[in-house]
Amino acid sequence: MAQPQTHSSTQGPPQSSQVPPTAAAPVSPPAHDTTDGSASSEKENKEKKAFDRWRHTLSLITGIGLSPEEFQAEIDKADKKQCELYKEQLVKSSPGVRFMMNNLKKSGCPLTKNMLECGPCDSTKSGGFSKDHGILLCQNGFFSKKHQEHTMIHEMIHMYDHCVFKVDWDNLRHHACSEVRAAALSGDCNWTREVRRGFYTFTKQHQECVKRRATISVQANPNCPSRAAAEKAVNAVFESCYSDTRPYDEFY
Ligand SMILES: [Zn+2]
Repeated sequence: MAQPQTHSSTQGPPQSSQVPPTAAAPVSPPAHDTTDGSASSEKENKEKKAFDRWRHTLSLITGIGLSPEEFQAEIDKADKKQCELYKEQLVKSSPGVRFMMNNLKKSGCPLTKNMLECGPCDSTKSGGFSKDHGILLCQNGFFSKKHQEHTMIHEMIHMYDHCVFKVDWDNLRHHACSEVRAAALSGDCNWTREVRRGFYTFTKQHQECVKRRATISVQANPNCPSRAAAEKAVNAVFESCYSDTRPYDEFY
């Protein structure tokens, strides 16, 4: 059975910038004075360059002059660049990411660079772990660097569990346990993220968030027949898995 790749995050703002516009109108160049003299032609050149830059920017914003495919390709390129940049920075300087990388290494499952890949995903996901391919970071799924950081840690916890606890991903309770731990330890459920989602309450907020997110992820397991089955699996393992904070001493 295929590895579940489903550690979903549906809480980002709508990706409205990714919808290519339907109407594409040609842009006319501005009228130039046709005067002689090197000074003015230099000025003209500068203007032309500025205009080209402006037009390029405009075409990225509005899609003018680009087909929907070209427009999407530009967006993909920009998303990938951003994801790769954040990845480099986080691997270097995020205490949480570095901590998990060190612990993966100590556990005999080092995370190499080619196992941490930025790629496009469907809009409901932010990342995924596959025992065969490593970690996928959904370059179009992040609404902040912090979000990407939490996703990296979340997927690294799955990788850690796979390495240390020999998780059977086809078994819903195994999967649920890893999702509970990943949601609890990655920062997915810290209170600012919860306020943004509109789920903040003062009682048991963290636990409720962990349960809710773990349930969504387990529900996406190909072996999970229903939301009720996902809830049942999460509830069955919640207490022991929520309190098992390895390799952390406490919640991040
Ligand atoms: Zn997950």
